[in-house]
Amino acid sequence: MPHPESDAWFARARAVTPGGVNSPVRAFAAVGGTPRFMASGQGAWLRDVDGNEYVDLVCSWGPMLLGHAHPEVVAAVTAAVARGTSYGTPTTTEVELAEEILGRTPVERVRLVSSGTEATMSAIRLARGFTGRDLVVKFAGCYHGHVDSLLASAGSGLATLGISLGVSTTPGVPESSAAQTIVLPYNDRAAVEAAFAEHGDRIACLVTEASPGNMGVVPPAAGFNAFLAETCRRHGALFVSDEVMTGFRVSRQGQWGLDGAVEGWTPDLMTFGKVMGGGFPAAAFGGRADVMAMLSPEGPVYQAGTLSGNPVATAAGLATLRLATDEVYARVDEVAGTIAAEAAKALTAAGVPHVLQANGNMFSIFFTDAPAVTDYATAAGQDTGAFKAFFHAMLDRGVYLPPSAFEAWFCSSAHDDRAVQQVLDALPAAAEAAA
Ligand code: PLP
Repeated sequence: MPHPESDAWFARARAVTPGGVNSPVRAFAAVGGTPRFMASGQGAWLRDVDGNEYVDLVCSWGPMLLGHAHPEVVAAVTAAVARGTSYGTPTTTEVELAEEILGRTPVERVRLVSSGTEATMSAIRLARGFTGRDLVVKFAGCYHGHVDSLLASAGSGLATLGISLGVSTTPGVPESSAAQTIVLPYNDRAAVEAAFAEHGDRIACLVTEASPGNMGVVPPAAGFNAFLAETCRRHGALFVSDEVMTGFRVSRQGQWGLDGAVEGWTPDLMTFGKVMGGGFPAAAFGGRADVMAMLSPEGPVYQAGTLSGNPVATAAGLATLRLATDEVYARVDEVAGTIAAEAAKALTAAGVPHVLQANGNMFSIFFTDAPAVTDYATAAGQDTGAFKAFFHAMLDRGVYLPPSAFEAWFCSSAHDDRAVQQVLDALPAAAEAAA
């Protein structure tokens, strides 16, 4: 598909913004080529500035559960904008959105913020304030936003059962900050037990993606989240379940609805974002009432935001959650299941080694001959060249996939049969291209 307008805009963008983008993964760095500049979105479809149309399997990296420009969300947003865009005072939609979150999840109190990064950053500060401890445990391959202490990966030196104090993964994060973070291999109970045995009385919290999607979809082994919750409880640390990606996406109750609600445990703190903002910057952290009571102005742990609970963003989030009924989740699950199965079938037919992994309606295809991907080390061993060929063949056929082999694919309830068929039609040639 010709894209001279995107080329021209990308050149202009690079002259004013590092890499020409406002969030790195948008730059096509992993797949090469020009990122498409989108002009509009409707339902399952994106239209770029050259007029090319794509079935969207990124969905703004998760938020667009109902598809683009859902008429009722647009109406709620339009009405909110017309009333006024920001007051810096409490508003009723903040309360209603908070009530909606409490109605779907085990959190007892919630605070609204503007991004997932802010949510995890604030949850960690609160956990440290509540416990009076400093260390944070995270898993390699889990992303929680660009928070200093969470941009840490396993260091090589101290590794015992994969345990190490973290080393920063980016210049600009002081080693002293990364050294407050213990990074462990995902799904590894022995590593968790050893870390808590060694540092348990210094650990403020363990933070994990409720079901990781940021190394591709790598679901927790059965009972792993319950084990984490129990380990934290035994050591007086808080269990922070990051549902920025999974919250209100994989089920009405997010990932917790698929495991915690079934197994009978609750996180001490949870973080949310993406779907709950309906395409606007809204996120949240919440949890146990006694922990949340530590937050200012009720308690001493400071946290604030000029645009937190913004009336337009909360109107979009509230409309989205109210529309996200069981029928919506059933449709998204069905679409995701069809596309995932057909993609795997096409790759098998073309003889391309791959593993399909799904968690509800989030799924990834790993271009690997490993039998399964349970941690970051295995995910990192993919054939990224094969993915690149697959990605561009899909793009040329009007299907917009995440431009990285380490991402979940996202669908919406607006993916109708025509959109799904366009994806299915593109798959055989894309699989051949990856062979
Ligand atoms: N946590 C998880 C699990 C995420 O997937 C993300 C973003 O992708 C974040 C936190 C950060 O959210 P944001 O990009 O809104 O800052």
